[in-house]
Amino acid sequence: MIKNNVLKHPLIQGIILLIIVFIIDIIIPLGVAVGVLYVCCIVLLINESLKRILLFSISVSILIMIVPILTTNMGTAWVVFVNRGISIISVWIVAFIATKHKKLRIKMDKYTTQLEEKNKELENFTYIASHDLQEPLRTVIGFVELLNKEYSEKLDENANKYLVYISKTSNRMSTLIKRLLEYSDIGHNKALEMVDCNSLIRDVQDDLAIKIAETNATIQIDELPQVKGYKTELRLLFQNLIINAIKYCKKNTSPEINISAITEKGYWKFAIKDNGIGIPPEYKEKIFLMFERLHCNSEYEGTGIGLAHCQKVVSLHGGKMIVDSQLNEGSTFYFTIPNGG
Ligand code: ADP
Repeated sequence: MIKNNVLKHPLIQGIILLIIVFIIDIIIPLGVAVGVLYVCCIVLLINESLKRILLFSISVSILIMIVPILTTNMGTAWVVFVNRGISIISVWIVAFIATKHKKLRIKMDKYTTQLEEKNKELENFTYIASHDLQEPLRTVIGFVELLNKEYSEKLDENANKYLVYISKTSNRMSTLIKRLLEYSDIGHNKALEMVDCNSLIRDVQDDLAIKIAETNATIQIDELPQVKGYKTELRLLFQNLIINAIKYCKKNTSPEINISAITEKGYWKFAIKDNGIGIPPEYKEKIFLMFERLHCNSEYEGTGIGLAHCQKVVSLHGGKMIVDSQLNEGSTFYFTIPNGG
């Protein structure tokens, strides 16, 4: 096992190849051709440290020159040495490219780490900010309720109207904060597991039973696959899409929703189709952005976080999400999840 691991190390592979090439070079006089084999030794070290690449290139150059000194007769020496010189130049050109590549790789790794740290910082900030905002808001909501309960008779009509506004807006802000918290919590300390999408949808339907009954919605579900994923996140993904399909239905029409999945090049492609109001073509990408809404709250209530949430869940699973829609004729939201094949 240890032996196998040692042999997989590029430096060891490089040294073994170097020894083999050196032996071949002593036995068969290959001239410039041997330079190609030596270049391969350097290429193997492309991800090694700059010091190793440099030391290796010096060793290769010495080996290239030792062989003709040991084996060549003086009559043909100059041709051999020119050939060897060309081989050494090729080795150093490749060594130069390898060091450039390594430097770029170091820079890229540094930026990736910085980006990951900044991302984590930002997510923590969102979580802490939204978490801490909830506390004063709860106090506001509590006191507005108290005012309503104990003083509404003593207040005039206008003051009561203002109280209703304050109550509505603070409840809306509370919902926004809750959804932001859910958003920043996506994928945190969760484990991947096999999730049966059929039973997941059944659970979502149970949770939405009242909404489904109130709107007279029909949901047709095809046979769905099992996927490797984060169960809670996938459940919220389906839930958000079904809620939207119910919410954005046409006036005097009952929502009709179809959920299906097909396999496609290593992915499961899910489709959630509705017969709703549809989305204008120029907003098909925008709607996935945070807080992006196409309607005011009095028309359709919402926070503008639902689809951003869905997009984040799908990305977390390594998939993509798009919408296909005809205004006034309905929308189909597609998302992909790798099928592990
Ligand atoms: P919210 O529903 O809270 O406004 P979303 O992020 O879920 O936020 O949706 C963003 C916008 O996309 C919605 O305001 C709506 O205009 C549009 N939208 C989402 N789903 C649908 C749908 N099934 N049919 C039509 N429009 C939709």
